[in-house]
Amino acid sequence: MPSYRAPVEDTLFLLEDVLAIHRYDNLPGFSDASSDVLRAVLSEGGKLAGEVLAPLNLSGDREGCTRNADGSVVTPKGFKQAYDAYAAGGWMGLSVPEEFGGQGLPHVLSTAMQDFVSGANLALGMYPGLTQGAIAALLVHGSQAQKETYLPKMVEGAWTGTMNLTEPHCGTDLGLLKTKAVPNPDGSYSLTGTKIFISAGEHDLSENIVHLVIARIEGAPAGTKGISLFVVPKFLVNEDGSLGERNGVTCGSIEHKMGIHANSTCVMNYDGAKGWLVGQENRGLNAMFVMMNEARLAVGVQGLGQSEAAYQNAVAYARERLQGRALTGAKNPERAADPIIVHPDVRRTLMQIRAFNEAARALALWTALQSDIAHRSQDATERQLADDLLGLMTPVVKGVLTDRGFANAVEAQQMFGGHGYIEEWGMSQFVRDARIAMIYEGANGIQAMDLIGRKLPKDGGRAMMAFLTEVQTFIKDHGEDEAMKPFVGPLQPALNDLQAAVMWLMQNAFTKPDHAGAGATDLMHLLGTVVLGYMWGKIAKAALAAKAEGRDAERMEAKLVLGRFFMERTLPETSLRLARIKAGSETTMALSAEAF
Ligand SMILES: Cc1cc2nc3c(=O)[nH]c(=O)nc-3n(C[C@H](O)[C@H](O)[C@H](O)COP(=O)(O)OP(=O)(O)OC[C@H]3O[C@@H](n4cnc5c(N)ncnc54)[C@H](O)[C@@H]3O)c2cc1C
Repeated sequence: MPSYRAPVEDTLFLLEDVLAIHRYDNLPGFSDASSDVLRAVLSEGGKLAGEVLAPLNLSGDREGCTRNADGSVVTPKGFKQAYDAYAAGGWMGLSVPEEFGGQGLPHVLSTAMQDFVSGANLALGMYPGLTQGAIAALLVHGSQAQKETYLPKMVEGAWTGTMNLTEPHCGTDLGLLKTKAVPNPDGSYSLTGTKIFISAGEHDLSENIVHLVIARIEGAPAGTKGISLFVVPKFLVNEDGSLGERNGVTCGSIEHKMGIHANSTCVMNYDGAKGWLVGQENRGLNAMFVMMNEARLAVGVQGLGQSEAAYQNAVAYARERLQGRALTGAKNPERAADPIIVHPDVRRTLMQIRAFNEAARALALWTALQSDIAHRSQDATERQLADDLLGLMTPVVKGVLTDRGFANAVEAQQMFGGHGYIEEWGMSQFVRDARIAMIYEGANGIQAMDLIGRKLPKDGGRAMMAFLTEVQTFIKDHGEDEAMKPFVGPLQPALNDLQAAVMWLMQNAFTKPDHAGAGATDLMHLLGTVVLGYMWGKIAKAALAAKAEGRDAERMEAKLVLGRFFMERTLPETSLRLARIKAGSETTMALSAEAF
């Protein structure tokens, strides 16, 4: 059976040494996250992930969810107890303000926990994950009464949350939505329509389910300008906070799908269900974007989690599996063959995955830290820079971490040869589960379009300029340091490729938008590769400092080797990406639809 161990020590190193989060002790919640607290929180979280959630991953995949004739949904054996343990541990409200029952700790800590949970059991982690997204949306856009009604129960884990956007004819293009909201005399609305693919739409883990639903108020404009957001509880809530009658929302069916079998993906039927407007009329997408942005980062972390879990199992197998001899002579002469980890091609695969995972974890945490700064800093300049970087990196974290996460799950499966293709080893589950992260929360092609069409030109390109300057400054500050040369040297040409791509797009894509569309995915991966290289620069700097202090020398040396591997073997991909972007869209768009 596959296993999972949360990367607690690596995460602590990233938070304290690489990101130096104690520098931000002036921000609300940060001074509560002392070194001791960080260690205690992450160790407990790691224990929950490794000992409670991970053992249910394979059985949950096999058993899946079942829908009863009355529309109720049963989750796999053990899920309720595991969910209760998660809720009882206070994980749901780790970074939610204390006034709503949370602990007010930095969001970056929640992100670290999402990484552990996603690696341990992606399907199970989605139930609380969606709840956290719904909490975030209500915190920003809910009325005081809505916050008081829903948040404490959601933070406690007694109620869970969902996000209802998709309809059969309307996925990426939300402007097509048909779900209708009719105002009632008491200020509520009656919602009617069908939503599909709703994760955690119905289940047996919580007492109530709080659906956040987009719909069009009768008479509202067509397209995205007429979308409003509503909160629609499964059970109506009485004045005193107790649960009242069942609302008119039911699960019509659950999907049979490629992966995340243990997460219920529901068709939700709204038949005059009672809902209440969240935020302003016709401004629903703005409100939903809070949840979507939060969810996009969380989904990126899902890609990393699957990559990490698949990697850990591939390494364990590569140490055990005996096949062939090392090219340089037997390493295990007393046995019939050497373990496959001696083979350079096997090592190439394992190194590639791990070099990605460590930098991707740094990127996810660095981006979460920008979110903390953007929301908690008193300094307007600092807030703006952090918000710019957060916006720029959101599609990169979502798109690149999930594209690579899936590719890495496939590579890790490859380490098992034919056994990887057999279900009992569990490697196929990582591949199947990782696949969804590339699709939902905006398919990755849409993330790339968001980057090139919105995030790049926003405010005259301010966010990209800030990022380019930050990396250039890092190169300048460390370029003369002999020990940093293997990390800083290769970063400069990669940064030049990124600058050249941005320049080419500025000169060519405004007049010909197809150039932007055709180059979008390459730009997303080009920026992703550069920022991962930058993360390796930061990791190397911290590892060198730790080594000089005599801390954890062997582990730090391994990081420096992994960093050099990334610089030598992954970073050069930037030139390929640049070449593709500069090829423009002529050939991409040349064939007629019939000629395909
Ligand atoms: C297991 C699962 C769970 C899900 N959970 C939820 C949930 O909880 N809540 C919810 O609301 N939804 C959920 N979804 C829906 C998911 O977010 C959508 O499937 C996704 O946004 C894509 O929409 P679509 O399937 O209609 O594809 P389409 O929008 O039809 O897109 C098809 C393809 O065309 C591309 N494309 C479309 N438009 C453009 C464009 N303008 N430019 C370039 N490329 C384009 C897309 O990238 C995609 O590759 C879930 C889906 C699944 C499968």
